[in-house]
Amino acid sequence: MDISDDAPRWDLNGFSPSGPMNVEETLANLEVKFTQFATFRSLLSPGQGIEAPLFSDLLGRLEEIHRQARLLGGYASLAFAQDTSDQKAQSLLAKIEGALARIDNEIMFFSLWWKGLPEDQAGPLLGSAPDYGYMLTRERAFREHTLTEPEEKIINIKDLTGREALNRLYETITNGYAFIPDFLPPDQRVPLTRDGLAVHFRSHLPERREGAYKVFNSVYGQAGPILGQIYQGLVQDWHYGEVVLRRHPTAQSARNKHNDLGDETVASLLRVCRAKAPEVFGRYFKLKAKRLGLPALRRYDIYAPLKEDAKTYPFDEALREVELAFRAFDDEFADLAMKIPQAHRLHAAKYPGKQGGAFCASHVPGEVPWVLMNYGGHRHDLFTLAHELGHAVHSLLAADHNIFEFHSALPMAETASTFGEMLLAKRFREVGDPEDAEALAFSLLDDAYATVGRQAFFALFEVEAHRLVQEGATPDELAEVYLKNLSEGFGDAVDLDGSFRWEWVSVPHFYQAPFYVYAYSFGLLLVYGLWNLYQAEGQAFVPKMKSILAKGGSDSPEAILAAAGLGPLNDDFWLGGFAAIESLIPKV
Ligand SMILES: [Zn+2]
Repeated sequence: MDISDDAPRWDLNGFSPSGPMNVEETLANLEVKFTQFATFRSLLSPGQGIEAPLFSDLLGRLEEIHRQARLLGGYASLAFAQDTSDQKAQSLLAKIEGALARIDNEIMFFSLWWKGLPEDQAGPLLGSAPDYGYMLTRERAFREHTLTEPEEKIINIKDLTGREALNRLYETITNGYAFIPDFLPPDQRVPLTRDGLAVHFRSHLPERREGAYKVFNSVYGQAGPILGQIYQGLVQDWHYGEVVLRRHPTAQSARNKHNDLGDETVASLLRVCRAKAPEVFGRYFKLKAKRLGLPALRRYDIYAPLKEDAKTYPFDEALREVELAFRAFDDEFADLAMKIPQAHRLHAAKYPGKQGGAFCASHVPGEVPWVLMNYGGHRHDLFTLAHELGHAVHSLLAADHNIFEFHSALPMAETASTFGEMLLAKRFREVGDPEDAEALAFSLLDDAYATVGRQAFFALFEVEAHRLVQEGATPDELAEVYLKNLSEGFGDAVDLDGSFRWEWVSVPHFYQAPFYVYAYSFGLLLVYGLWNLYQAEGQAFVPKMKSILAKGGSDSPEAILAAAGLGPLNDDFWLGGFAAIESLIPKV
């Protein structure tokens, strides 16, 4: 009996208030809505404004179309996530993606018309629809990166068989991997999923950690040339789409623009991470080697626990701990988080074929979000639970915004989730075994490394990889560059062996969302800054935090932070985050 057997599964039959999602009916309904919407096309002349009431009517219709489309897409993704090997779920997802791309194509004339309006026509309309102000302003910010309607339509259609098909192929190939744990006693060598194998990266036994990484590296290493080709295809697609056709100055600045962050803000983040991460985490890794009694820390050891973490938590207890941790911060914070299990929207059981990792999906404002994780019963899993429920709180707090503005942009998207983890850490420090305190500090530092240092170096790798693919680099050459990047990130603090050269092909974000990963470094350094404020201000900080979260994605990250008295996001700001992380390193 596995500890995860008692963990809940979500109930997709409760997807809509009236029961399971009626896909056919919703699709038919959507068809009516967007066909109606398309009839307004003749009223929109290029470069010509319209009356404010018509403008606001169109925005309302557009919102309703997006609402139903998101629910459909969300439903299909959840059905696929709970069993990626289910062919019905696979084809439902492909079908819905096709339908949604068609809808996008049918309604894009509005957005193109809006982007094409001269300033004197757009200004008054913008003023007449303050609820949609940020979304409308953001759209116009992409004016010079938008193509003509027929071109945009071709891209949408071709993405289905191009980028999206490649990503599905990557998912199917990698979700099918079975890792044989040859480092375990013979009677335990049953094939593991990636998540099942990853548990051993954190084993207290050095040879198990090494064994697990070797199995991982060998499976991905063998697949490296193939997965590397998929990666090359996606990088080329990004280059042609974002740089050549849409004329973003660089591959990365396309992402920055989507994140509504200035190129200099991101450059500052990565500059500081590149300089500080090897130093701060290097100091930590050297201390960790000493405490583990190792002459030097091997790459296999970076997530080693200080002592055996044999304790496991039944799922109910895990949930209770997270609830109490949130409640110590704020009752509303805890109440909102608990809506997820109460609504049967938490899927924590673990089995082959289920999507790995964890996520929180919220499709429309006010909807109770859906959380997926693969619960293994260890303390680490409690942090994952706190993380995903933190996301859910964020989205529920932002429920008052329209569908275009309730999701926060990537850089702020991890604010509530990582803050939730820190609340749980605080609870462990306060009510846990004092002997565990050092081990807990080490595990926070492990996570800080994984989120800030590792992801920043991932982002630095991506910058180089995107450039090199344009120059014709092979997967083998990219693997060499990756190994160099790793060794710069670790400095002289960690012994690295060459088998990690293919690790990059195992990072889904590189495929699905180029340059996504720096948002993790951004988010955690920001949260460490917020945490320091909470420590200094106590309860007075609570409304401030909630006001940041309640803004959702209704303004730029810098404006949201400035409204709470934070920023500007320059080198000093990031250095402050590193100082807070450094303060966790135990004094010796
Ligand atoms: Zn997250």
